[in-house]
Amino acid sequence: MNEAYTNNLLMIDLSNNTHEILPTSKPLTADFIGGKGFGAKLLFDNLAPDTDPLGPDNLLMFFPGPLTGTMAPAMRGCVVTKSPLTGIFLDSYFGGSLAAEIKYAGYDGIIVKGRAKQPVYLWISDNRVEICDAGHLWGADTLEANRLIKNELDDDSIKIATIGQAGENKILYSLICCEYNRQAGRGGAGAVMGSKNLKAIAVKGSKLVNIHDPGEFKKACQDAVLELEQSPDVEALRVAGTASAIEYANETGLLPHKNYQYGTFARASKIADKGQSKHLWLGSNACMGCPIRCSKIGAVRTGKYKGFVTDIIEYESAALLGSNLDISDIRAVAHLVKLCDLYGMDSMSTGTIIGFAMEACEKGLIEAPGGIDLKFGSIEAAEYLIHAIANLKDPLGKLLSKGVKQAARVIGNHAEDIAVHTKGLESPAWGPRGVSGMALALMTTDRGGCHQRGFPVSYELGGEWNGTPLDPLSPEGKAQMVVALQNYSAGTDTVVKCDFGTFGISEKTYIRMLSAATGRVYSSDIFYITGERIWNVVRLFNLSQGLDISEDMLPRRFVEEPLPDGPAKGHRISKKDMAYMKKEYYKKRGWDENGVPLETTLKRLRIDYARSNQ
Ligand code: SF4
Repeated sequence: MNEAYTNNLLMIDLSNNTHEILPTSKPLTADFIGGKGFGAKLLFDNLAPDTDPLGPDNLLMFFPGPLTGTMAPAMRGCVVTKSPLTGIFLDSYFGGSLAAEIKYAGYDGIIVKGRAKQPVYLWISDNRVEICDAGHLWGADTLEANRLIKNELDDDSIKIATIGQAGENKILYSLICCEYNRQAGRGGAGAVMGSKNLKAIAVKGSKLVNIHDPGEFKKACQDAVLELEQSPDVEALRVAGTASAIEYANETGLLPHKNYQYGTFARASKIADKGQSKHLWLGSNACMGCPIRCSKIGAVRTGKYKGFVTDIIEYESAALLGSNLDISDIRAVAHLVKLCDLYGMDSMSTGTIIGFAMEACEKGLIEAPGGIDLKFGSIEAAEYLIHAIANLKDPLGKLLSKGVKQAARVIGNHAEDIAVHTKGLESPAWGPRGVSGMALALMTTDRGGCHQRGFPVSYELGGEWNGTPLDPLSPEGKAQMVVALQNYSAGTDTVVKCDFGTFGISEKTYIRMLSAATGRVYSSDIFYITGERIWNVVRLFNLSQGLDISEDMLPRRFVEEPLPDGPAKGHRISKKDMAYMKKEYYKKRGWDENGVPLETTLKRLRIDYARSNQ
């Protein structure tokens, strides 16, 4: 019996209308702990090479972590699947309270395979699992579908994951909305859900989480809350949410402007937290039991876009649908983000692809649809494209629905030169030309262009990591740092923590909470070891699904075009620097020169069996 776990994984086969309960095995919890770890192992073990991500054989998995649903602060849930946007591993995290509800219903994970013959939703209430007709919900946006299901089941306290029209239409960067404003946003998990004809998953549970040592667990959780309270970074998040990072990114030259051509935006303050509080009414909100309360809800107070917003305009959305498009009216940005949320479409990828389309049109690579002035700064053009993409409305909408990598390939004529992505995942809002460690992290991230699998920016700009001086522009010393950050991130993603929790909660306190909850004695380096194990399993999975290692690289813009503004003006990540960092990185990882894990690495991590599975 694993304490803190429910010891059950719910497997649902939509093709056959059946479900079964599988045990959460001890080897799985011992070597992979939970969350990302469970997802990596199960995906690797169960998906044949070249599985179609939108076919019935792909798995769509929802995991709470071992600490989710307990008094441990800032815990969340994660979705793991094979991404239709990148063709490789995808883990995407969501807040709110759905993940805790899955735990209370008695499951360490919900695994969905197959494809229903017609639209359905799942209704899971403890041991009761029903596959219900969702024909009447098809076509509803994310919030409307949530409301209709609650009405139908006559219970407002049910927690629900839904897709919107974007997921139904299999837009490759559609998301899963988990309750009102928390989303598994990146990589197209919503399209996988749509491909299974699965509109929603509704969950209600009544079971308790069994804690091994409640006294010590309570003490460790109290210490975690204290660490959060004492962190200045957490305080900034509590007051202003992630939008507080806009001015920082602008001052350091990392803020994308006009499809990442520039790193600063003269009107940045208008879309930052102070600009937001001037035009939006915002009240604090939080995921279940989170003392950080970074989330905000509210409304646009004045003007054409007056009305409710689905969330504060988070840093990434404000940057990619704001500065990246040369739009500084925060009310308009709020409107664009709301449209993405209602359709169920990743606002980050959407912002990047609209920026790409605006630049492509200005360069004469594509034509604007009739009557649309497709240029930077046009709110109307951005809004038009969101509707066109989500509804597959015209040839351009259809083209852009495939993501920036595929769209650029179809357009040809050097359009790939201005497509900003890594491995098909549109880049986050941190242009890396002035921070080479961030560049390396983006090149090597397991799910494609992502800033959340190791974020070295603050160390680089602070000039030091682990007591070693660091030059942000130099390729030296970056591989070691990035490997360590990625391992720690993957390791702590097994407890399915919120990344913002790590701004305050120490490694030691996470381990204390985990040990007291599960009754296992964990070593002080458990997150690094487990993270490294996961990173290697994911690498083997990605290679088995056809990952081309030449894709461990940056988009051309960051390599060929020197930054025209900001403190790192004139700098780029040269091919030579990129090759040097990549070589060092492979070496540190224990991979061969082709980026394939060495036998000795797999043996050391006790996953040498994985090679024979390939
Ligand atoms: S910090 Fe914000 S996103 Fe993270 S768990 Fe707390 S409220 Fe949710």
